Amino acid sequence: MKSFKILTFGCQMNEHDSEKLAGLLKAEGYRESERLEDAGLVLLNTCSIREKAEQKFYSALGKLRELKELNPSIKIAVSGCIAQQEGNAVLRRAPYVDVLFGNQNIGNLPALLKEGADMRVSTEFAEGYEHAVIPASRESVVTSFVNIMYGCDNFCSYCVVPFTRGRERSRRPEDIIREIEELVNSGCREVTLLGQNVNSYGIITPPSPSYLKRGTEGALLKNIGERYCDFPELLRMINAIDGLLRIRFVTSHPKDLSDSLIDAMATLPKVCNAIHLPLQSASDSVLARMNRKYTFADYMNKLGALRDAVPDLAVSTDIIAGFPGETEDDFQATLLALENIRCDGIFAFKYSRRPNTAALKLSGHLPESAKDERLYKILELQDRIMQEKINARVGMVEEVLAEGPDKSGEPGRLAGKTRQGKIVNFEGKPELVGQLMQVKIIEGKKHSLIGELTCRPDRSGVTHI
Ligand code: SF4
Repeated sequence: MKSFKILTFGCQMNEHDSEKLAGLLKAEGYRESERLEDAGLVLLNTCSIREKAEQKFYSALGKLRELKELNPSIKIAVSGCIAQQEGNAVLRRAPYVDVLFGNQNIGNLPALLKEGADMRVSTEFAEGYEHAVIPASRESVVTSFVNIMYGCDNFCSYCVVPFTRGRERSRRPEDIIREIEELVNSGCREVTLLGQNVNSYGIITPPSPSYLKRGTEGALLKNIGERYCDFPELLRMINAIDGLLRIRFVTSHPKDLSDSLIDAMATLPKVCNAIHLPLQSASDSVLARMNRKYTFADYMNKLGALRDAVPDLAVSTDIIAGFPGETEDDFQATLLALENIRCDGIFAFKYSRRPNTAALKLSGHLPESAKDERLYKILELQDRIMQEKINARVGMVEEVLAEGPDKSGEPGRLAGKTRQGKIVNFEGKPELVGQLMQVKIIEGKKHSLIGELTCRPDRSGVTHI
């Protein structure tokens, strides 16, 4: 039987793409291998958001070369952002790669793998790919990722995404609702809606003129500027799906965080009290050079309104350390902001040069040592804040969705998440998976909580012990 192993680098978008790739391969009769060495096909689903991610990919590819020398029948496939960005350059550097395809060409994998296929590479930006339905082989039954849009139009000056994932395209709401209803029928209870900027969801992308046949230009003009619906409306529709218990979403661009989204988060009971709201820097001059289109004051005003409207809101953010031209004062402003905002989690990285991006041309690139030092200080500060926030939950009774067995493998223990998105491990029977529990938090660990089931009923009124 044909077998495969997928190695995934990068973000949740890539994780979900890997679920779709696994779904496609299983439909073609492949089975998933536990071990890389046993797989007939090894697929690297890559990330190019930072230089380090790219280095990790090339190092993994180097190891696969050794594997292929020992067993030449192994096929190696490369997908994702590096495949899209580098294209044939990957094949020149690693000619032992068998097939390579971009983010929009996932559906072409079976054709690329066919014996005697005349094509090895597929990286063209595909028209209408956002409407394609690719059944995913999902990691979890209880919680699922659902794409609501692809690509990005924001062109932040440091970011490759608009070049690797293309321009922003939204899926039709009816397709999203149908997918979630089907997931719920299969046992899903929580969805995480995925998009590079979910807050701008809904703009209808008309087909390009070259795609339309002569005489159909009217159809192109008709859709310009139209929306399917906006993101808060989409949340309302999803909130109405019977059987679904929770809704999360990533990522929210601060410039597009509207009053109506704040209202939706405050009033829709299934929308969790958690938001990932990337700040990147607290210096207005750095934000302007990043092309983020908000000031630090804008960010704080919106976050303040959100925190006023949504009680006990968990906030996570992204920070770039050592952006070109970042002065010591700029950096200190960011540290102070983090101290004041008190995020529940951050993704902090040092700035790295990415191909095609506007920041390459900026002056004032900092030495690696200065960026390392700033990153270290950010992470040190955040570690303390996060631990304080975790410890502050001890003694509280939280609503937890039981997602599956505890990762430690200890029998009789379950893992789940609070509405804020914090991981909780607790003793419980396997039949509780997929249900909302009331769990008393008894201990704070480094990145998670330990709890015990209480006798209090959950939201549906069911008492579990
Ligand atoms: S909003 Fe900016 S950082 Fe986020 S994906 Fe788009 S260009 Fe990249």
